Amino acid sequence: MVTDILQKVTDLKGVGKSSAEVMRLMGIETLNDLIWTFPYRHEDFRLKDLAETPHNERVTVEGRIESEPVVLYLGRNKSRLQVQMLAGRHLIKLVFFNQGYLRNKLIPGAIVTVTGKWDKGRQVINGSNVVFGPKTDQADFEPVYSLKGKLTQKKFRQFMRQALDEVKEILPESLPNPLRTDYQLLSIQEALEGIHFPKDAHHVKQARRRFVYEELLQFQLKIQALRKIRREEDRGIAIHYNLQKVREFISSLPYELTNAQKRVVNEISKDLLVPHRMNRLLQGDVGSGKTVVAAIGLYSAVTAGFQGALMAPTEILAEQHAASLDEWLRPFGVEVALLSGSIKAKARRELIERLANGEIDVVVGTHALIQPDVTFRKLGFVITDEQHRFGVEQRRILREKGESPDVLFMTATPIPRTLSITAFGEMDVSIIDEMPAGRKKIQTLWVKHEQFNQVLSRMEKELIAGRQAYVICPLIEESDKLDVQNAVDVYQQLATVFKGKFKVGLMHGRLSAVEKDEVMRAYSEGKLDVLVSTTVVEVGVNVPNATFMVIYDAERFGLAQLHQLRGRVGRGEYQSYCVLIADPKSEEGKERMISMTETNDGFRLAEKDLELRGPGDFFGKKQSGLPEFKMADLVHDYRALEVARQDAVRLIQSEAFWHDEDYKVLRQNLQSSGALDGERID
Ligand code: ADP
Ligand code: MG
Repeated sequence: MVTDILQKVTDLKGVGKSSAEVMRLMGIETLNDLIWTFPYRHEDFRLKDLAETPHNERVTVEGRIESEPVVLYLGRNKSRLQVQMLAGRHLIKLVFFNQGYLRNKLIPGAIVTVTGKWDKGRQVINGSNVVFGPKTDQADFEPVYSLKGKLTQKKFRQFMRQALDEVKEILPESLPNPLRTDYQLLSIQEALEGIHFPKDAHHVKQARRRFVYEELLQFQLKIQALRKIRREEDRGIAIHYNLQKVREFISSLPYELTNAQKRVVNEISKDLLVPHRMNRLLQGDVGSGKTVVAAIGLYSAVTAGFQGALMAPTEILAEQHAASLDEWLRPFGVEVALLSGSIKAKARRELIERLANGEIDVVVGTHALIQPDVTFRKLGFVITDEQHRFGVEQRRILREKGESPDVLFMTATPIPRTLSITAFGEMDVSIIDEMPAGRKKIQTLWVKHEQFNQVLSRMEKELIAGRQAYVICPLIEESDKLDVQNAVDVYQQLATVFKGKFKVGLMHGRLSAVEKDEVMRAYSEGKLDVLVSTTVVEVGVNVPNATFMVIYDAERFGLAQLHQLRGRVGRGEYQSYCVLIADPKSEEGKERMISMTETNDGFRLAEKDLELRGPGDFFGKKQSGLPEFKMADLVHDYRALEVARQDAVRLIQSEAFWHDEDYKVLRQNLQSSGALDGERID
């Protein structure tokens, strides 16, 4: 008798050495591991009428074999078996690949139940599963697990059946009764049955509904607990800025702030005033004017006697920020300094000293800011621009150069709400969702490769008018696998075409940081007319004179990235253009190109990108900050996510959650997740 969910799977009947080994590789050692191994899909074995089955859909039919099977051998271990079958009124063909042994069983007169893909045009079922005899005791729905080695679905299901029977009665209910009743969710026992041994489609759906909600709720509880801890602690600093001075500064700006900028400035100011640590994400589309918002925040801190720091991912960006801040803030007596990686040793020593003794009020820099010998007298406010370019560790080091300074992260990647409340749920989020007035909308065109010459002459027109152009290519060297235009080739081609007329520069990832900066500087100073580049140019540089952007093989980029690239033009007073050169093969690729030509709205494109490519690809592979869910899907389950979030907010603030017996299991899970010790604040 098994009475413990932590009992080993090797205690189950029929689990031999090889099955045990396969399960071990799958991470399954105990009964608990086993029952929480969910199938990746369910096969629907309900009988269907072929007349009503759409082309290419999976279908199960029962019928009688009407001909001798014919097996064709197609080379090594490959074969194709074909036989006729009468399914209801339909005389169709069955085809099985590499299952020649079926020839002895699929004989005239045999009654079989076959599952496979229905080719309506050719009246063929490409069989994947066959049961000999009528469909009697085969289940309507069967889970399909992702298994390794020789372990069969059937065997695995037998183990699962035993395991569930053994532990069902001792499994604690993990979802509190009040919530289960409110949403009419299955009990943990019923839900596990529904996933592993569903009675019908409805059962699977209800089981999934419960687990999705539970998973999202647990995750949101963790995030909300983190927020609560941060809000209640008063280890942070209260920055009592001088409102009068800040107002004067804002009215000195050459333009009026947009309403969105005003709102965000207020949100940041409130955070500065209170003694909690600010942990805020500022999202604003490219060109929405985040830098000036940062400047207002930094100046506020300075008026209260604090120092501020702004970290940017590249030298050129840091330089641009330092120049803007200096221009805006110097008239107000603020000392702004740039700490770059290329600064000479002596100047650096001096700068570091002035930072340590408080002569410098605001410092802008790259990674150079987080060197160990860089210290502050009184650091109160820290901003990171393009935050996704920095690792968690780098952001932490900068933050720890002050005593619990307020922290603001800025990003130009619009993040769909579902992802933002998941990946950044423990932060407060401010959004600039409005562009400064008077911006000309960038005109975006999608053309085929064969139209390149027309693109060139259009580009030349802009260059003759004194404007500059970017040409973006996906990779720097030719690769057999990816038949892509490479930057070096394009550079040579354009350099030849424009010889004696315009200067063409080349930038790619193989250049050193110093070389890249040199090229970028030459371009921003107008010494280059055309910049051929890989995507290294993507991050926030501001060259207002650039009006023409060409993106080669645009179908290779995701929407978010295309939008970022496009954001390099349209930053000045001139009408700008973005030309996508692409011959996409897939429907999805075409849809991306069309979306780009239809909208300039980064948030809409981000939602579309998420829909087309899924959450995994949205942030890129590394450091996505997204948790892995067993059941929940951030795209399809966004309603559940929203509900779970609201419930978590409410629960964390309620007495019942922290004391009632009903919530004990949830509390324990939260405890063991580490959230209550303040993990994941970054
Ligand atoms: P991003 O949000 O992409 O970092 P920037 O801060 O570089 O955008 O701003 C883009 C341009 O818009 C800059 O030239 C900036 O001076 C200008 N700008 C910012 N706010 C306004 C505004 N309210 N009205 C007009 N121009 C603005
Ligand atoms: Mg910026």
